[in-house]
Amino acid sequence: MLSEIRIVLVGTTDQRNIGSAARAMKTMGLQELVLVDPQEIPQGKAQALAAGATDVLANARTVDTLAEALADCTLVLATSARNRTLDWPQLTPREAGEKAIHEGLGGAKVAIVFGREASGLTNEELQQSNFHIHIPANPEYSSLNLAMAVQTVSYEMRMAFLAVQSEPVAPEQEYPYHREVESFYDHLERVLTHSGFIIPQHPGTVMTKLRRLFTRTRLEENELKILRGVLSSLEKHVPKT
Ligand code: SAH
Repeated sequence: MLSEIRIVLVGTTDQRNIGSAARAMKTMGLQELVLVDPQEIPQGKAQALAAGATDVLANARTVDTLAEALADCTLVLATSARNRTLDWPQLTPREAGEKAIHEGLGGAKVAIVFGREASGLTNEELQQSNFHIHIPANPEYSSLNLAMAVQTVSYEMRMAFLAVQSEPVAPEQEYPYHREVESFYDHLERVLTHSGFIIPQHPGTVMTKLRRLFTRTRLEENELKILRGVLSSLEKHVPKT
């Protein structure tokens, strides 16, 4: 199950943090690292800090966008140094570990997303996740070093993994891939724009609120299919402007 967990680092500025994150991952049994638009290509300095985990670094995949990194995932967890900025479903690292391992048993592909050293993840990036994870650090200084945040969350993944070794858990329901959910949002936005509900010049926050609604309910695969069908049936009656 730990091999089904992908660590995604977005826009990392300092390659040394990429090396340290690789080491943090390997010590906890995680292997899959994806870098989204890193500002420095990991080379010598990253390798030095990766120490015995240069294999994780060497196997890391680099992509241009977060959507690419998440496309084949069914559970996306995004970390934030800030607590509840977006009013999104939130988990503690411990709950996140339990959820990831539990869904991993049912064959889910899980991504855990980490932000930039100076500015974290944007709201738009945070909204691409099912849950947020906040490490309940000192509220007066809650911003951990990136690799240390990776270490803390990876540790909880390992603890949850060790716990199910002795106690198998029943697999869960089927959730859609991230790319399917994103294409549903595109479809929904298209239909709502054609129907005149969303005015392109003044889109407001409708899509953000709808994303939050569907994130909260956590659509299952068959429910998503029904909604796509509903949209397609409506589309036939909505004039395309
Ligand atoms: N000033 C930034 C801090 C970014 S720290 C901000 O306010 O968002 C860099 C990354 O480390 C974060 O994007 C997150 O992925 C991780 N991180 C740091 N502290 C964390 C915490 N307390 N809980 C969860 N993730 C944390």
